[in-house]
Amino acid sequence: NIPQASLADYSGRGYDRGHMCPSADRTLTVTANQQTFYLTNMNPQAANNNQGPWADLENDLRTIARTGKELFIISGGTFSASSNKIGSGVVVPDQTFKVIAVLDAVGQGPSAVTTNTRVIGVMMPNENSQISISADWHTFRVSVDAIEAATGDDFLSDVDPAVQSVIEARVDNQ
Ligand code: MN
Ligand code: MN
Repeated sequence: NIPQASLADYSGRGYDRGHMCPSADRTLTVTANQQTFYLTNMNPQAANNNQGPWADLENDLRTIARTGKELFIISGGTFSASSNKIGSGVVVPDQTFKVIAVLDAVGQGPSAVTTNTRVIGVMMPNENSQISISADWHTFRVSVDAIEAATGDDFLSDVDPAVQSVIEARVDNQ
C-alpha cells in the first residue's frame, strides 16, 4: 500500500507543485495534457528553481523540438536521508534533474543514439536559498554519470553500453 499525495500536502508549504513532464510538452490531446496534472507527475519544487532556470530550460527544449528534433527527456529528483518532507510525508527532492537526449529526427529511438548524440544533463538545487530565479540553466549542466551517481538509476539504459559510457561522461557545452 503506497500512500498517495494529495493537494492538501502541498497547500501552504512553500513549494510549487512542480510538473516533471511540463503541461506545455503535452498539448496534442486534452487527455495527454490532463495526465500531466496527476500528482504522480509532481515533486515539491522550489519556486526559484521551477519558475526560473528550470522553466527556461523547458522552454529552450521546446524550441529545439520545434526545429524537427525528437527529444527524450527524463525528469525527477534526488533524495537523501535528510530530505525535507511536507504535508503527510511527501518528500522534497534535494535537487531536481533532467536527462535529455536530442535525436536528429522525429520517430528515432535508442538505436539511433551514437557517441555524437547531444545529451544534456542538468541538476539544480531545490531550495530557494540555494538557487536564484534569474540563474542561467546552462550553469547547472552536469554529466549523466553524475546524475546516475546521485540517483542510483541507470539512464539511457536501452542505448548500447559502449555508447552510454561516452555520452554519459560528457558535460554538454553547446
Ligand atoms: Mn515546472
Ligand atoms: Mn546509463
